[in-house]
This record gives sequence, structure tokens and C-alpha cells, in this order.
Amino acid sequence: MITSAVRTLATELTGDDLPAYVYDLPALRAHARAVRDALPPGLELYYAAKANPAPPVLRTLAPHVTGYEVASGGEVEHVRAAVPGAPLAFGGPGKTEGELRRALTLGVERFHVESEQELRLLAGAAEDAGLDAVDVLLRVNLPLASDELGGAALAMGGRPSPFGLDPEAVQRCLPLLSGAGSRGPLRLRGIHAHLASGLDAPAQLTVAAAIADWARKLSERHGLDELTEVNVGGGMGVDYAHPDRRFDWAAYGKGMADLALRHPGRTLRIEPGRALTVYCGWYVTEVLDIKHSGGEAFAVLRGGTHHIRTPATKQHDQPFQVLPMDTTATWTRPWARPAVREEPVTLVGQLCTPKDVLARRVQVPELRAGDRVAFAMAGAYAWNISHHDFLMHPRPGFHYLERRAPPQ
Ligand SMILES: *Cc1c(COP(=O)(O)O)cnc(C)c1O
Repeated sequence: MITSAVRTLATELTGDDLPAYVYDLPALRAHARAVRDALPPGLELYYAAKANPAPPVLRTLAPHVTGYEVASGGEVEHVRAAVPGAPLAFGGPGKTEGELRRALTLGVERFHVESEQELRLLAGAAEDAGLDAVDVLLRVNLPLASDELGGAALAMGGRPSPFGLDPEAVQRCLPLLSGAGSRGPLRLRGIHAHLASGLDAPAQLTVAAAIADWARKLSERHGLDELTEVNVGGGMGVDYAHPDRRFDWAAYGKGMADLALRHPGRTLRIEPGRALTVYCGWYVTEVLDIKHSGGEAFAVLRGGTHHIRTPATKQHDQPFQVLPMDTTATWTRPWARPAVREEPVTLVGQLCTPKDVLARRVQVPELRAGDRVAFAMAGAYAWNISHHDFLMHPRPGFHYLERRAPPQ
């Protein structure tokens, strides 16, 4: 459901101010606080910045998260500047030597190492920098049987993947890490895994338990006393078909508290992206035109998937709400207002490609040229994954709503 602050702005903006991204920061704050409160106190919550790295979003989350997961040199620089002093965990495949050196210079707190070569590069960079205790988590691509997850058909870890290390490769990395018998500038602080996306709370808990158990066995087998951290990743599900069905943070928090009890002395950490920020953003635009083709209704919107690529990438209908615009000022043209009523309509953008579809054959009571449409769940993997320059349309406006000052 659209928040009243977003609705007000969405109807006050002029057509030429649209499209616009509108972020409800008080709603984000309340959501982040609720997530944090549902989690056991000892569990560390990192935000995966790639979901939405806009500085007002990062700053709004700051009081509610332990740190940020970053996945490129660009994100390291950006998040350091936006939230100075917040702990960073640097993950992602294909880190360059230059990025690793720069991250060491910036004092990045944790490195999620994805390959044997990366471990060697990091060790060399740390030695050159005169550092002797760089904290590393090895990212492992753990095999998980799908029956562990109730047979759910999911893109699970353990399949061939460019991400992380196979369990055998983790063993091969141990001699390169201090705390595992040898000495060097890198310290094995923990195990990291991010195995799936879109899981519900029970499935996430199963995955978390499997990772924590595996980490414990590894540490016991090799006497790794400094291996005290287990990062079980992100991927908490969001449901674009049912925006009101939210990840069950209460059940998840309870399960993670139980898991922590079974792993005394270990710090558990999660790093969700979308489940934190997806709900706080709306992409608001107006209907430019309505037409029929081959018996089907199309609404042509200002903007499109060059601003919000999510529905094209995920092949889903982006959830939306129609904001009817009834003032006489809305329709001053001397011809009938194009409209559809009680009919499925396909919402498309301005791009000259049949892929520019935001929602397909969705039943609406009424939609007219000049009405506004607010697409929900546009707070993560939306603007920042889109191909903005395709066709050279203007960029959307960006509005980060703060709570209005109470009336004097
Ligand atoms: C993308 C990513 C995340 C966040 O995933 P969400 O689905 O947004 O929660 C967390 N960890 C890693 C390693 C990632 O690549």
C-alpha cells in the first residue's frame, strides 16, 4: 500500500516532474528498526549496498545495521564516504589487485575472499602495506540438497558457480591463512556463504544451520580458534506478486536465536539487501496515452524500463497502484480523454522495444491518460540496475521524503 506521504507528492508533482523515484525514509527507518528488533541482539546485520546504494538510504539504515556489505571498489569508496566509520565487508568475484590495495588503505574491516588467487593477491597487498592482521572470511559454495529445503526448486549453492570456493578449495586455502598453522598477514576470521535468493524464513534457517554446522566442523577439524564468525548471506525473499506478504522476520529471528545457542562463541551475521529496502521506494509516473491493438489495451507511460528495469529482468508484473487525477486541469484537451475501464491493460514505457513492459494484462477498474501510476517495491534493484541512457529520455526526479515538521 502506498504511504500517504508518497501519495501526496505523487499527485502534487507536475507531469513534467515525472517520472520520479520517491523514497519514504521514515517508512524505511521503521522497517529497519522492526527487522533489527526481531533479530537476536548478538546477530550482526549488514546491509548489502548493491540493492540500493543511494546515500540517503545508506544513512537512514545506519543506526539499525552493524555494517555494509560492498561488492566492488566503487562501492567501497561510495559507502565509506556516505557512512564514514561504518564497518565494511568487501565481497564479490573478480576483485582487482588495485581494488584490494585501495580497500586495505581505506581500512575495510572484512574481506570475503572468493578464490585461491584472490587470497594470494590480498596477502601480497597486505604485506606490501605492512599489515599483519587482515580479517578474512572465506566464501564457500556449500552443496545443499534440495530436500533439506522441502524440495523447493531453487538456485541453490553447491552447483557449479563463479562465486566462492568449493569445500575442497577452502581446505587448500588454509595454509595461506594464519590461525591455521602458518603465519601471514591474513587471519581466517570466518566463513561466508550466500547461497540463494528469495527464500522464506524456514528455508533461510535451514540454510543458515547448514552453513554454521559446516563452519564448526571445519574449525574443529583444523583447530581454527580464530574462526568465530559465520556470515550466512542475504536473499531473504520478497514477493512482487504479493507486496503485503513480507519475510517473516519474527520467525527468522527466533530461529537464529536458537542457532546462536547451538553455536556458542560464534558471531552470526546476515547481509540482506532487497528485503530491507525494496518496500521504501516507488517509481511514480503518468499515463501519456491509452490505445488498443489487436483487441488488447495498452497504457503508454512516461518513462519505462530504462528507469526501472526490474520487471524486464525478472519477467514479472511490477506491482502498482493507480492514482486517479480528476482535476479539470488534468484534462484540458479538446478531445475525449483516452481511457480503459474494467479491462486488462498492459503498462508499457516510452522505449522502442517490445521488452519495455512494466506490467502485463493487469485488470484495472479504470485508467485514463493523465492518471498517475505508482509502482511499488521500487526501493531495491530498480534505478541502479537500469540502462538509463538507452534512447536518451530525461532522467527521473529523486525525492527522499523525511518526516514533515509537525505544524507549528
Ligand atoms: C546480492 C548479495 C546479497 C544481497 O542479496 P539480497 O537478495 O538483496 O538480499 C548478499 N550477499 C551477497 C554476497 C550478494 O551477492
